[in-house]
Amino acid sequence: MRKLTAALCALTLFAPAAQAQTIKDFLAAVMVKWTAPFEPFQLIGNIYYVGTDGIAVYIIKTSQGLILMDTAMPQSTGMIKGNIAKLGFKVADIKYILNTHAHLDHTGGFAEIKKETGAQLVAGERDKPLLEGGYYPGDEKNADLGFPAVKVDRTVKEGDKVTLGDTTLTAHETPGHSPGCTSWEMTVKDGSQDRDVLFFCSGTVALNRLVGQPTYAGIVDDYRATFAKAKAMKIDVLLGPHPEVYSMQDKRAQQRTAHRIRSSSRASSPPMRPACRRISTSSSLSRRRHFSLRNNVVRALRLSQRGEVERAAIRCTASGAHG
Ligand SMILES: [Zn+2]
Ligand SMILES: [Zn+2]
Repeated sequence: MRKLTAALCALTLFAPAAQAQTIKDFLAAVMVKWTAPFEPFQLIGNIYYVGTDGIAVYIIKTSQGLILMDTAMPQSTGMIKGNIAKLGFKVADIKYILNTHAHLDHTGGFAEIKKETGAQLVAGERDKPLLEGGYYPGDEKNADLGFPAVKVDRTVKEGDKVTLGDTTLTAHETPGHSPGCTSWEMTVKDGSQDRDVLFFCSGTVALNRLVGQPTYAGIVDDYRATFAKAKAMKIDVLLGPHPEVYSMQDKRAQQRTAHRIRSSSRASSPPMRPACRRISTSSSLSRRRHFSLRNNVVRALRLSQRGEVERAAIRCTASGAHG
């Protein structure tokens, strides 16, 4: 998976900043983006983005309630709940909270939301002590990296499944970034197609120490095993714990453009000329597929097609080309 390998190699998220600055300086530098608002939206199928500008949080809608994948910083919990409500969902309907990894920027709202909803918290087995202690591994006493401790209701290992209504997620152990780092896989309906979606935990070094006094025993071997496993994974849609892992903002902008074109096509008076009907169809197709990796093979082609679609749609609406 070329895309997944690229994400694994994106070690810039934490490491250079951490080496050059103190942890306090680093957190101050990233916090603006991490806590900035982002408009929630339907990402693909029954998966919705409800995170901030710099931290990804997802809601999965099932036939029996909601699954929340991660939260963000503790101070963003109100914003996350607001995003869920903006989409028309009820926070009270969250039945499961799944965790990718026990770092403060993905766990800050667990205690509050769990208390409010009674949802079951599910996490990788080796991250359980971190979540229940509210600390960063190897830096247990550093309050800057701490978060509200929360009880884990169920731990998972490789291949374990979590099912709610019509939706099942499978856990994959991808340790290194944290000892219990867990990537979650599920299938979504994308039009008439089934697509494999992976919520990849992370492969970055973060604030971890790999040499000298390692963050935890065996961390380097864990990273190596995770890199090898990730290379062999076959997925269609890559999602991650931070939007930049999969260029979310760019894809969302493209999705919005396609949606605007589709809306303007729909607003045109009927009946449209055959050429305009084709434009309308291809616009809605490209909107659905912006988050599909399989289609990245022809991404450049689609981008150029989108340009043509946009120009043609403008022609169709501007010239009143109906009937
Ligand atoms: Zn992390
Ligand atoms: Zn993170």
